[in-house]
Amino acid sequence: MLEKKAGEFSGEKVIAEFERLTRDADNVQRETLRRILAENGDTEYLRGLGLAGRTDAASFKECVPLATHADLEPYIERIVDGDATPVLTGKPVTSISLSSGTTQGKRKYLLFNEELVKSTMQIYRTSYAFRNREFPVEDGKALQFIYSSRQFTTKGGLTATTATTNVYRSEEFKATMRAVQSQCCSPDEVIFGADFAQSLYCHLLCGLLAAGEVQMVSATFAHSVVLAFQTFERVWEELCADIRRGALSPTRVTSPAVRQAVSALLAGPNPELADAVARRCAGLSNWYGVIPALWPNAKYVYGIMTGSMEHYVKKLRHYAGELPLVAAEYGASEGWIGANVEPAAPPESATFTVLPDIGYFEFIPLRPGCTAAPGPDACYGESEPVGLTDVVVGEHYEVVMTTFAGLYRYRLGDVVRVAGFHNATPKLKFVCRRNLALSINIDKNSEQDLQLAVDAAAAKFLAAEKLEVVDYTSHADMSSDPGHYVVFVELNAAAADASADALQGCCDELDRAFADPGYVGSRRSRAIGPLELRVLQRGTFHRVLRHYLSLGAPVSQFKSPRCVARSNAGVLQILAACTAKAFFSAAYD
Ligand code: AMP
Repeated sequence: MLEKKAGEFSGEKVIAEFERLTRDADNVQRETLRRILAENGDTEYLRGLGLAGRTDAASFKECVPLATHADLEPYIERIVDGDATPVLTGKPVTSISLSSGTTQGKRKYLLFNEELVKSTMQIYRTSYAFRNREFPVEDGKALQFIYSSRQFTTKGGLTATTATTNVYRSEEFKATMRAVQSQCCSPDEVIFGADFAQSLYCHLLCGLLAAGEVQMVSATFAHSVVLAFQTFERVWEELCADIRRGALSPTRVTSPAVRQAVSALLAGPNPELADAVARRCAGLSNWYGVIPALWPNAKYVYGIMTGSMEHYVKKLRHYAGELPLVAAEYGASEGWIGANVEPAAPPESATFTVLPDIGYFEFIPLRPGCTAAPGPDACYGESEPVGLTDVVVGEHYEVVMTTFAGLYRYRLGDVVRVAGFHNATPKLKFVCRRNLALSINIDKNSEQDLQLAVDAAAAKFLAAEKLEVVDYTSHADMSSDPGHYVVFVELNAAAADASADALQGCCDELDRAFADPGYVGSRRSRAIGPLELRVLQRGTFHRVLRHYLSLGAPVSQFKSPRCVARSNAGVLQILAACTAKAFFSAAYD
């Protein structure tokens, strides 16, 4: 009945089509490559590689080299600057997407076209169909913490903004969101507002006004939901006052367009709702379960919770209480990869089933922990790429994608593990970004190794003092000889409130937790100096976030950099300026 109400959407039909595609993954991949090459074979890039009209996988692999973003940058730059000839794509480029680039501090330009809108809607519908089978929602709305980013016009007249903003601006977005019962309860003016803090405040307010209707709480990344409720803890009384008065705070929200749109929803004084919100907040213990308390009809919390977002799951669980957390799909500004078709799985074990018609996928087999040449990308040894259906369960791979948006054998830089198969298509577990390794000489530690080290040290030395790691990052400091690892943590208390013993213990444990033989050997031989733990002032990661926002990054795309490169001077300066206490490990003394 619900599906009828939503018009064209039929979850069972979407699932049946998905099952058909995934059962026939090999043929679907072949056909997808054929379509991509038929559409784009006449582009300057592919013409120069001698495919001469061939669209089969063997010729493709023989003629077209693996490419990184740096290889394609000169072509992309020409398009950005206004070259309208078919440089990388047969179909016109409609706008430019900017990827987040949190690690190196430099954002990447990518092409955006109608094909990406189509595949985005396909993956939204697919994951919703599976989600809805598990956790059916009724006719209602979504409290979505989504924000468009600033946009600018390139020299060549194209609009450049984030991929998500490009999607939000598309005609199809609203219709699909309505069809999948995920219509945002805030007006467009809030989503497209220029000031993030004002938009966040209004999302919360609009969510409270539509409390009974809200069926799910979501954001692109889990971090945004956590940030929203950290903010809620500070501003809830002001939100209640606004609802009581029926008027928006003149200091919190100053943008005339946002004020007008949200004031229309406020309509008039509503002391009953203000009292109800205040009563429910007062009944909470340390904000545990605030989401179901205020949005009693919400069925789940939804967003990307894997990879660098896994750190926020604990806090999210706290705010969500008993509500299920559902990990959202896997993709990048470059294109989509897979959907979470097992939504009941906890985020820590979420996998992504590759959609075989969304792009042509290859996988570079990686051997973790090999002792190849040192450097930031030296965690893995690699061999020849294999096709989508040739991957082996349990093995690690780097994702390589060929898309309808001008990327050919493009190395995404993500490491995944094959967790199993859904029909004939693999289910991927996201492992880490490949280039986010802490490495000084022969040591190699990935983003995941860092996460495990931080978790272990926090459990052993901080939990007993009721201290939590709010956020963390790291840096391979080579400014002195020998170089050493620096781990930066922001705690849920001022550094002065944490005992020096606990922090020293935490520092030693971090050093011990990096078990990679290259690291252990280098520490023993003093080729790497003692690990340094820097405890940051509270609010440091908000400053880091503001720094990225000032560079034009949107909050919805923000991922705390887990390893800050030397080139990222802006963030390093903030971390240095905000260091409250520093400890050096005695683990190898
Ligand atoms: P961006 O293009 O800036 O949005 O970043 C894309 C990157 O975010 C991907 O290459 C992944 O490293 C990461 N990412 C996206 N989706 C997920 C996911 N579901 N789980 C873990 N990491 C993800």
